[in-house]
Amino acid sequence: MSTALPGSFASLGLSEFLLSSLNELGYAQPTPIQTQAIPAVLNGGDVVAAAQTGSGKTGAFSLPILQAISTKQASSKRAVRALVLVPTRELAMQVGDAIRAYAQHLPEAVKVVTVFGGVSINPQMLALRGSTDILVATPGRLLDLADKNAVTLKSVDTLVLDEADRMLDLGFADELDAVLNLLPKKRQNLLFSATFPEGVKELTQSLLQNPTEIEVKVESSIPEQVQQRAIEVDRDKRTSLLKHLIKEEGWSRVIVFVASKRGVNNVTMKLSRAGIKA
Ligand code: AMP
Repeated sequence: MSTALPGSFASLGLSEFLLSSLNELGYAQPTPIQTQAIPAVLNGGDVVAAAQTGSGKTGAFSLPILQAISTKQASSKRAVRALVLVPTRELAMQVGDAIRAYAQHLPEAVKVVTVFGGVSINPQMLALRGSTDILVATPGRLLDLADKNAVTLKSVDTLVLDEADRMLDLGFADELDAVLNLLPKKRQNLLFSATFPEGVKELTQSLLQNPTEIEVKVESSIPEQVQQRAIEVDRDKRTSLLKHLIKEEGWSRVIVFVASKRGVNNVTMKLSRAGIKA
């Protein structure tokens, strides 16, 4: 019997094979975006998520994709089943590595190929020979490969647009359109973006059908019990104000940041003279 703890990866419906990879990677619990996105992606619907780098978004889309690939038969042996479009070479490599790490314990090997521009195309053409399950690509290089018939995208089940805002910022709108034209009409679409300027909103509307919308609140790095306050004051009155505040408010433990070494000595001396131990 399964004993998945609420809020655990197991409770999200991931297979034991993926769970053992996550265990090995030391992931104790899903991040908020993973908790929301994994079941939605497993359900097969479209998803739009507001997600920053570092939120765990790569796992949020790739874990359910791996699960689907490992449990469903491919319609065609040579077909790319999931396409992950990313704006940069760095992100392509990072996402490819993450997916390979998540896939390491699956009973049948999942082939993940990473392609991006600025390097020779030939090794990428070779890598695409035979079957490719998941292709991680920057749009320009993907189009070059498609032009050379090195890849066919007719059987893509799932499309991921990762960092869609950066993709548009980097001027990939036309390439993106051209790639979309190579994909089958019926597919699952997942869009991840840190911000939603007009261009990304339009893309979301034109691309996604009835998507699950996920917005993960970015936790402020400032704890709630810390109150922030700025006081505008003339330069020569700063230390007097500080002395006044410390005494009036009865502050007993205070950290004062000062711009220079001389400033530190100066403030310390003035506070000491006022009977404040500094
Ligand atoms: P990402 O936002 O997908 O780039 O992930 C940011 C970092 O968090 C990567 O180094 C991941 O390996 C790590 N990570 C992702 N999900 C989890 C998790 N559930 N627990 C711990 N670390 C994670």
